[in-house]
Formats: sequence, C-alpha cells, structure tokens
Amino acid sequence: MAREMYPMCARCTKRVCSPFIKADEVPSIDDAPPFCPMKLMPDFLKNTLAEYDKPEIHEFARQASIQEFECYERVPGGMRTKNPRILELIEFSRKCGYKRLGLAFCGGLAKEAQMLTDVLENKGFEVVSVCCKVGAVAKENLGLKPEEKIAGPDNWESMCNPIVQAEVLNAQNVDLAVMLGLCIGHDTLFIRYCRVPMTVIAVKDRVTGHNPLAALYLSSSYYGRLMAKEK
Ligand code: SF4
Repeated sequence: MAREMYPMCARCTKRVCSPFIKADEVPSIDDAPPFCPMKLMPDFLKNTLAEYDKPEIHEFARQASIQEFECYERVPGGMRTKNPRILELIEFSRKCGYKRLGLAFCGGLAKEAQMLTDVLENKGFEVVSVCCKVGAVAKENLGLKPEEKIAGPDNWESMCNPIVQAEVLNAQNVDLAVMLGLCIGHDTLFIRYCRVPMTVIAVKDRVTGHNPLAALYLSSSYYGRLMAKEK
C-alpha cells in the first residue's frame, strides 16, 4: 500500500523555501521534494497566508521579523549573533508596547523566576508571577497513588496546576505570558488555557540544565541510546 504523503520538512535537503537568490528572483518550487507542503497543499498555504493581512497580525509579525533581524549584526568577518533570548524578550516586549508581563514558572525554577523578575523589573516592566504549585492541591486529587508521588508515599505533594497559572495570568490582563520551565504536559495545558499572547523563555530539562537539545547533540556519542530503534 502506498504510503500517505505528508509534510516532512525535517527530511528536506532542498530547502527551496529559503533559497540563496537575489530579491528580484523567484524561488523555484518545482525543485521542492514531493513531501513539501508547498507542493502538497498550495491552496491551503495561499489561503492561510491571508491571515497576515489582518492589521493586528500583520503588525505583530512585522515586529517579530524586525526583532529577528536585530539579533544579528554584520561585522567585517561576516555575520554574527548578538542577543540572548532574555534580551530578545525585553526588546520584543518594548516593540509591542507591553508593560505588564506574566511569568508562569515551575517551583523547581523559583530562583530563576526571581532573577528573571529582577531583570524585567529593572527594565521597567511590571511582572505578575504564578508558581506551578499555586492552589496547594494534593496530587491525590488527580488520582495519583501514594507511590506515584516524588516526595514519597507518606508526604504531602502539591500537584502542578497549569490551568490555574494560565487563568490567573488571563485574569490579571497581562500583555504577554512567559513560560519558565514548566514540565511537558503541564506546559501543554498552560498553552491550552492561556488566552493572552504567550512565549517561552525556557523549557524544563531536569538533566541538562534546561537545555533539551544537549541530549540531541550527544545522541551520536555519549547518549547514543537515544537513537536506538524501538517499536
Ligand atoms: S517547505 Fe518544502 S522546500 Fe522548504 S524545507 Fe519544507 S519541504 Fe523543503
């Protein structure tokens, strides 16, 4: 049976969507691989692109691309990067006129939340922050068994509460919500319930200092078991 064709940009070696051509030339979509979304769903892409015509979206996307541009600089040796993500967050928030930022952080990164709050307040922002354990609701409320608690069966353990984190930031009318170190799954719920613009300053990785790509970079050497095929 023929395999269903679906977008697989991660497998592309052509990258005709980002060609090295002059500004007045036209990218050659014909050279794209058969699984290219530009070939598979051209009408869908065309219709979706119309979203950028909405004035508010257009301006937001324009500012985001200016921000992207400003993260590089041309120097005699070529091009180099210059802005860490925290600076990007500050600069982009200023571009958008955001004054009140909302920080949804993991209790395991409380120190980082404090430092980030210091940085953002020092740059003139108001920072509303909510810890993942907000509500102090026992994990048993989610149906967890005593032996499934990290603190041990005999100890209290508050459940992570990303829905309340999101709703508090929604209710506080923050201009931008910033996720800091929420776990996988908890972050998914936060994103689902967050109704204000949202970005991520860091994702949780307990082993790599919150740098999940470190495991990928080691996957052909010290962390080779990551690539082992499993059913
Ligand atoms: S959009 Fe098409 S050309 Fe671009 S990376 Fe995806 S498959 Fe390749």
